[in-house]
Amino acid sequence: MEVNGDRGNLEKVQHVLLVLSGKGGVGKSTITTQLALALLHAGKKVGVLDVDLCGPSIPRMLGVHECEVHQCDSGWVPVRVGSLSVMSIGFLLDHPDDAIIWRGPKKSALIGQFVSDVAWGELDVLLVDTPPGTSDEHLAVLENLKKHRVDGAILVTTPQAVSVGDVRREITFCKRTGVKILGIVENMSGFVCPHCSECSSIFSTGGGEELAKLTGSHFLGSVPLDPLLSASVEEGRDFLQTFPESATYGAIRGIADTVLNSLQD
Ligand code: ADP
Repeated sequence: MEVNGDRGNLEKVQHVLLVLSGKGGVGKSTITTQLALALLHAGKKVGVLDVDLCGPSIPRMLGVHECEVHQCDSGWVPVRVGSLSVMSIGFLLDHPDDAIIWRGPKKSALIGQFVSDVAWGELDVLLVDTPPGTSDEHLAVLENLKKHRVDGAILVTTPQAVSVGDVRREITFCKRTGVKILGIVENMSGFVCPHCSECSSIFSTGGGEELAKLTGSHFLGSVPLDPLLSASVEEGRDFLQTFPESATYGAIRGIADTVLNSLQD
């Protein structure tokens, strides 16, 4: 869905997907980066747009937080991580002179606009890491993102967060505004022991699946709490390249494949 017929910088972007969560700290940015890398490893052209004002952490997770961004005639030039294109609001907020444009009553509209202010070029999938939560401000940001053609949303939750009404509110938001829910990812589902690689449940599990059933959404899969994954994102390393034998790798690849299949439906 788009406001007018001119998609501008999104012209050659096949699919725009929002990554949402009901609250911060559930691993939304981690899942965004890992899905992006998994899609990249699957041979797709991928972009990541980080508009998470609460903590734009994508550049750090991809090891490009010290990069400078530049503008060209058609907008901001994304930073490249290998062949992954990355743009974060954090790149701009780091520059005090630029920060001024994100203040004031039009902030959410400006963030919505930001998606089309990036010279993405040709992409198969653009993943948008959105601000977490269901406050009016966050919903306003999503409303503005939705003005661009959005193919769907991936909702990230943790097993213990499913009882929190926020997740359901996010689902209600998608339904009300006509954003298709591609599915739910349950993150931090079980703990992978770094010594024996065995996965044990520390919180309840299956909550994401339950929530998917309750709300008529697709369950995309679960990703365990894996210390090797958190160490990789802390250090900006490609987890999928470093630990291709791990169960967590299999889980992330599985989710990426399901996402790709649902885009082809
Ligand atoms: P959010 O974007 O929802 O605020 P983050 O992606 O920043 O959350 O993740 C919060 C913290 O949890 C980070 O330190 C990240 O490394 C860690 N984390 C997220 N998912 C996992 C996981 N599956 N295994 C291990 N650590 C994780």
